[in-house]
Amino acid sequence: MKAFVTGGAGFIGSHLVDKLIMRGDKVTVFDNLSSGETKYIKHHLDNPNFKFIEADLLDLKTVKKEIKSHDVVFHIAANPYVRLGEKQTRLDLEQGPIATYNVLEEMRLNDIKKIVFSSSSVVYAETPNIDIPENYGPTLPISLYGAGKLGGEGLISSFCGTFGFQAWIYRFANVVGTRGTHGVIVDFIAKLEKNPRELEILGDGCQQKPYLYVTELLDGMLFGFEHSNEQINLFNLGVDSNTTVTHIAEMVVEETKLKNVKFNYTGGKRGWAGDVPRFQLSTQKMRKLGWQASLSSDEAVRKAIQDLLVIKL
Ligand code: NAD
Repeated sequence: MKAFVTGGAGFIGSHLVDKLIMRGDKVTVFDNLSSGETKYIKHHLDNPNFKFIEADLLDLKTVKKEIKSHDVVFHIAANPYVRLGEKQTRLDLEQGPIATYNVLEEMRLNDIKKIVFSSSSVVYAETPNIDIPENYGPTLPISLYGAGKLGGEGLISSFCGTFGFQAWIYRFANVVGTRGTHGVIVDFIAKLEKNPRELEILGDGCQQKPYLYVTELLDGMLFGFEHSNEQINLFNLGVDSNTTVTHIAEMVVEETKLKNVKFNYTGGKRGWAGDVPRFQLSTQKMRKLGWQASLSSDEAVRKAIQDLLVIKL
């Protein structure tokens, strides 16, 4: 299989590339390195099955030139920082629906019909106290990032309906692990490096979310890609347990072996405007297909903390 991976130099994208190369696939990474890094893909640079294009998805001419003769597109690139939308209101429009449109349109012109998309649980926004199934609706996101993801899903489904594309859309839980560049664990480790006596925690610490370990996420994505064959294959990718922000802070402190760290909460039930304080994804559809994560949310968080601390040492 010849795979075109947008965002392949990023946290999740580079783990996907490792898995695809290991399977013997040919891989082209298309990444502008805005949040990705070449160090995550440098071990493939001499591999004849691997090609790296440093370019932006908003540069249509280069997308057009490079996307040719691939069998499938894994569209992973996006702005990964949910909070940025508060300050840069065009960002999630450009890096979401507009970039996704560019990918889809050049796929159409080059007769590439299969797309795998990294969406997010944030499309569901605030839900009643349930395990959210994929058919939950209406989906009314409360962050611009969430709107960008939902817009991307809509465009993909419309290219399926109008041009006979086939899509695998995954709504991820929070993903953690080695090469992680953002998110609560990275934030806590960085803050404790600056001040080992106090830790600022956004919100009241009771925010409660499921955390999935990155290599398990990729196993799930590729399992779904190989075992489901509807025109639109829509799946949550998560775990059945969850972890509170305070518990993450406690685990980071334990793993750093610091003592007497004072937790300072900024207060309020959200970490920031647009944050969804609590959600739980239903994993039933993936389980029915035959896949489930083996690490619990707490285990995934603990392993990710250990990974990230090893890199720091
Ligand atoms: P990341 O920032 O590490 O990866 C995104 C990659 O896309 C980066 O390498 C970046 O340089 C690249 N990129 C961004 N804009 C681009 C553009 N215009 N042209 C070319 N390349 C561009 O973030 P990640 O955590 O690995 O996220 C990967 C995907 O998964 C994103 O779509 C993100 O929204 C989604 N997602 C992530 C999580 C999570 O917990 N990490 C949860 C839900 C969904």
